[in-house]
Amino acid sequence: MVAALIVCFVSCSHQDSEEIAGEANAGFFAMNTYISMTAYGDQADSVLEEAESRMKELEALWSVTEENSDIYAVNHSNGSPVTVSDETAEILSFALEMAAETNGALDPTIYPLVSAWGFTTEEHHIPSDDKIQEMLSLVGYEKIRLDENQVQLPPNMMLDLGALGKGYAGDTVIQLLKDRGILSALVDLGGNIQTIGMRPDGMPWRLGLQDPFGGENLGVLSVSDCAVVTSGNYENYFIGEDGKTYGHIIDPVTGYPVESDLASVTVIAAEGKLCDALSTSLFVMGQDRAVNFWRQRQDFEMILVTSTGEISVTEGIADQFSPADNEEVDVIYR
Ligand code: AMP
Ligand code: MG
Repeated sequence: MVAALIVCFVSCSHQDSEEIAGEANAGFFAMNTYISMTAYGDQADSVLEEAESRMKELEALWSVTEENSDIYAVNHSNGSPVTVSDETAEILSFALEMAAETNGALDPTIYPLVSAWGFTTEEHHIPSDDKIQEMLSLVGYEKIRLDENQVQLPPNMMLDLGALGKGYAGDTVIQLLKDRGILSALVDLGGNIQTIGMRPDGMPWRLGLQDPFGGENLGVLSVSDCAVVTSGNYENYFIGEDGKTYGHIIDPVTGYPVESDLASVTVIAAEGKLCDALSTSLFVMGQDRAVNFWRQRQDFEMILVTSTGEISVTEGIADQFSPADNEEVDVIYR
């Protein structure tokens, strides 16, 4: 049921990539998704091997199901304080900051609801209203205590870093590649795209914006040195017994999958963690709140596709987006 990549890589260039000197590729499964990386430069092969191990280490720390993970330890602590790794403390601290900034649209304690709707087991179903109310009482990021590396979570509450873990892992890997001297690379974490520099031919990376309704790409975004992350309820959803579609992004206020006036939100910014946290939370907010939120900040740009198929692009990225034929685009100004 999980849809294909949200933002897919549009053909690299007229050059045959096999012929580009120093190109290395890696592809593997981690964090519930297929990850592929392309890097150019001396030693790119060994650098990508190191990057793959690093990604798997982070997965092992943040998995909700792996019994040795930091997140598993916190989720099964029954209210006792747990000491976690620096990486986990850092991502949690960032998640709490973003939860506060988005007024709770992003909530890293959403797991009981994600689970009640069956998104953790693929046994999807509509929970009863009583069950939703019961699970809602277990959701609330304000109840997490984080003091340096010590995390304390009330009994039965559960953490889920699914909304921002891939973005954070992407940043870690991008930094590792840069530290090893890589000047040109593209990392694709199941549709979260992060790039270093330009393509080896000196042109920007060209990314296809996926149509959330399943058609041809809606256009091409040209970028360098940044992250591009898309969220939407078309990625992972089920059709309930009532015939309605229910997606994996849940509104922490109602406990129901978001019924947004948006079909997808793509966020473009310097760092993957910000893009990932925001793409999920702006989707929860819906169009008007998302636009207001963008107007209050200077650290990201976005592309919104509404549930009726209209595309709008914030002014800072408008020049870098070329819509496909017949696609009209509105520009959102400050
Ligand atoms: P993303 O694909 O980055 O938009 O993240 C979606 C994932 O984040 C879901 O599969 C859930 O695991 C989790 N999630 C769902 N709703 C929320 C929410 N409101 N806040 C934080 N995480 C959420
Ligand atoms: Mg996200």
